[in-house]
Amino acid sequence: MIRPPRRWAGGALGLLLASFNPAAAMAGPQAAAPPAVPRPVVEAGEAQPDIVVLAPWQGIPQPRGKDEEGLWMLADDEERQLAQSARRLRDPALEAHVKEVLCRAVGPERCGDVRIYVMRMPLFNAAMRPNGAMEVWTGLFFRTASDDELAVVLAHEFAHFEKRHALNAYQRLRKSANSAAWVSILGVPLIPELSLLAGFTSFSRDQEKEADLLSLAYLKQAGWSAEAGTRLWSRLIGEARATAVARGQPPDRLLKSGMFDTHPDMRDRAAYLKPAEVEALSDPKLEDVARYRAAIRAIMPEILQDQFGRNDFGGTDYILDQLLAIAPDPDLLLAKGELYRRRGSPRDMELAIPLYRAALAMPGARPEAWRGLGLALVRSGARQEGVCAVRTYLAARPDAPDAALLSSMIKDDPPCAP
Ligand SMILES: [Zn+2]
Repeated sequence: MIRPPRRWAGGALGLLLASFNPAAAMAGPQAAAPPAVPRPVVEAGEAQPDIVVLAPWQGIPQPRGKDEEGLWMLADDEERQLAQSARRLRDPALEAHVKEVLCRAVGPERCGDVRIYVMRMPLFNAAMRPNGAMEVWTGLFFRTASDDELAVVLAHEFAHFEKRHALNAYQRLRKSANSAAWVSILGVPLIPELSLLAGFTSFSRDQEKEADLLSLAYLKQAGWSAEAGTRLWSRLIGEARATAVARGQPPDRLLKSGMFDTHPDMRDRAAYLKPAEVEALSDPKLEDVARYRAAIRAIMPEILQDQFGRNDFGGTDYILDQLLAIAPDPDLLLAKGELYRRRGSPRDMELAIPLYRAALAMPGARPEAWRGLGLALVRSGARQEGVCAVRTYLAARPDAPDAALLSSMIKDDPPCAP
């Protein structure tokens, strides 16, 4: 149903930079022309089903009967663990933003009692427990471009919650003796590294589709287009393919993994979430992008560090290119520079250097871009210029963990011109 995204590698970088205009960037991301990067394409799928009508809200679901009481106790216990987990990122501003997006999507009366927990996990996942605790992983923030895309995921999870889907999963699993499956009920992945999309594995295919359709109703009520879901799923499909191809595997390998057996194929999802009148995907509104990026900016270093730790050059590069094509951003340019510099071939240094320079030409660039630029220049033979860039970094970050090491590396170099 979906044409594979065109493959592209170094050539796209040239396109990106050729159309990147630092003067426009100085005026802010909204003023810069979007680069011509190949984007995921979704063909017309099955007609979009009728959007369901939201039922009146009855208040946060209360446990009914023994099974639900058991499930709630489990959920309360897990929420206590979540709250104290070392993986929890305590960023009140980000939690508030996530809550605000959820509230806009599902309406203020529905969202009131929801508690948000941001967990430092580099995979795409979110889960809502039946007691109203919502867990969002940092890997979701890396792959999402805008508030409306974040809303798609939050609304989907909220739909499982409103429809009490966890109860069926709980009853099914209680009958089976499969203890490994137990942990997946409440959103904890079985084997995180097996899949980009861990979690999401315990609901039935019908429940997943019901949650998708109910989430469309929420989005419509909030004035967001259902296209956001298609855009997000198409990007994830593109990432899965880029990861597989860079590892020398068949492109659709990760899409056909057994992990997806119990819920709609990502490709079906991208198609049936697409509004019938939409022929080609358009970018999110820049205001939704800007608000979203501002909200995640504080945790970008952690998001990127964890993503780089996954050793997925192909998928990481794909996501960065897609996000940069929507609007330039100093953190994303820095991230792409780091991705290439860390891979470390001489050609990679040539690719990384202009990315750091483009980041530094934008307002809000982090001093780490001077560090990356300096190290890449030194590696490519431009030692004096590189040393001076590293010194600029050290002047801005005298207490950086690597400050002593870098200072000792360049202590014998001649001083830089003021
Ligand atoms: Zn689901």
